[in-house]
Amino acid sequence: MREVGWPAAIPVVDRNSIVPIYQQIYEDLRESILAGTLPETTRLPPERVLAERLGVNRSTVVHAYRALVSDGLVEQRVGSGSRVARAIGHPPRTADVPWWITLPPWQVGAFPQVLGELAATFHGERISFVQGVPPVEPSPLEELARSFARVAGDPDYVLSYGDSEGHAPLREAIAARMRARSCNVDARDVLVLTGSTQGITLVAQSLAEPEDEIIVEQPTYPGALQIFAIARLRAIPVAVDHGGIRVDHVEEILRTRRPRFIYTMPSLHNPTGVTMNADRRQRLVTLAGRARVPIVEDDPYGALAKTQTPPLVALAPKSVIYLSTFSKTIAPSLRLGWLTAPRTIYERLLLRKQSYDMATSLYVQAGVCDYLARDYDAHVVRLRGELTARHALARATIARAWPKTMRLTPSAGGFYLWITAPRDLRARALLDAAEREGATFLFGEAFFATSGGDHNLRLAITPVTHEQLVSGIERIGRAMAALSGR
Ligand code: PMP
Repeated sequence: MREVGWPAAIPVVDRNSIVPIYQQIYEDLRESILAGTLPETTRLPPERVLAERLGVNRSTVVHAYRALVSDGLVEQRVGSGSRVARAIGHPPRTADVPWWITLPPWQVGAFPQVLGELAATFHGERISFVQGVPPVEPSPLEELARSFARVAGDPDYVLSYGDSEGHAPLREAIAARMRARSCNVDARDVLVLTGSTQGITLVAQSLAEPEDEIIVEQPTYPGALQIFAIARLRAIPVAVDHGGIRVDHVEEILRTRRPRFIYTMPSLHNPTGVTMNADRRQRLVTLAGRARVPIVEDDPYGALAKTQTPPLVALAPKSVIYLSTFSKTIAPSLRLGWLTAPRTIYERLLLRKQSYDMATSLYVQAGVCDYLARDYDAHVVRLRGELTARHALARATIARAWPKTMRLTPSAGGFYLWITAPRDLRARALLDAAEREGATFLFGEAFFATSGGDHNLRLAITPVTHEQLVSGIERIGRAMAALSGR
């Protein structure tokens, strides 16, 4: 049974209107029910309580509820009050029904604002550890600008759509880099994407139907959780420990259930920074292969690891759909990513991609392709060094400025730190306190498909300067001390 959402469910009444108050209440609730903002079985406020809140006679509310009952929208039972009826179905498209309330219910994840926060550039004056963006130094800007200048004058790039599969030389350059990471990939297997976010959406909508189950890691990337919620997929969470996803749990699930796919980040996992060990990698692909469940490998950070581990797709090219991006190694504003998929489903993904955007910006693809042939690999090496330095600085500052009760997940690098606070310290309370001290981060619940994460925090260590990294961690440390009353 759903509880009523106070105070959003309280109708607004206008005492100066010529429309009787009971009718205003009736229409307001009717619209909310038909629009799905008051879903089926939601408990409505008791008549007396609503009357008090609105400052009207109880009989006015009784009158309004009765009208809803006679429309079949509300059920009343003695002792259990009034609830939105089950199986309302779609409202009739009559003249008095605004068109938007005939829309199907709106699907969003548990934290719809998080994706917007991850994309937003402004977090006030605070030191923000929210966004997973590359650091300002080493900067790709100068060389990238030269590459774009070189292609800007070419009408073949600028005045065309280009192939939906992607710019052929870029596909080749991507395939070559994947081959260097032990993946047996041909340029024909590469589908260029407008950001790897597009790839997650493509997969969610092409490999599964609403209500289907999928396996996700817990914690996992909130952007993917939001995409899966919008596609109405049911996420079965599987814990991640220091060796990566708990393959024994996956095995257990596959005994009785048939998820459509397994969404995993084996290298420098977001948010924990964990890299899946070799044994688990082999077991996971073997298990999934046997159960005929494809793996969706999301790998935005793998190229930035100090020690390179071949992606899962290297082990099982036929059962892995691989996703990656230039957002973390060059710049997220490019909106440029790619996937590789077995031939048998490539076409399926391609046709859906065409329905989103025809093709990814050819101008951007050509600019990046030029950059790949010049400074890219050297830039990635510099970036790895920078990330190593930042991790060392962050860890040293944490060791000095935070209580010892905070547990930092040991990671192999990447953009993030994942912290577990003791049981008596909730991450949301810490966030409020940290914001008062002038620093902000993401609270853990956003990374959990089901409940959990309320004692976790994620810090992106890349969107700040070295000085801010130190000062922001110290500020959070002050917030921790204030909360634990020391
Ligand atoms: N997957 C993961 C795990 C990510 O962390 C991100 C970005 N934070 C993305 C996908 C999306 O990347 P893109 O900019 O390529 O859409």
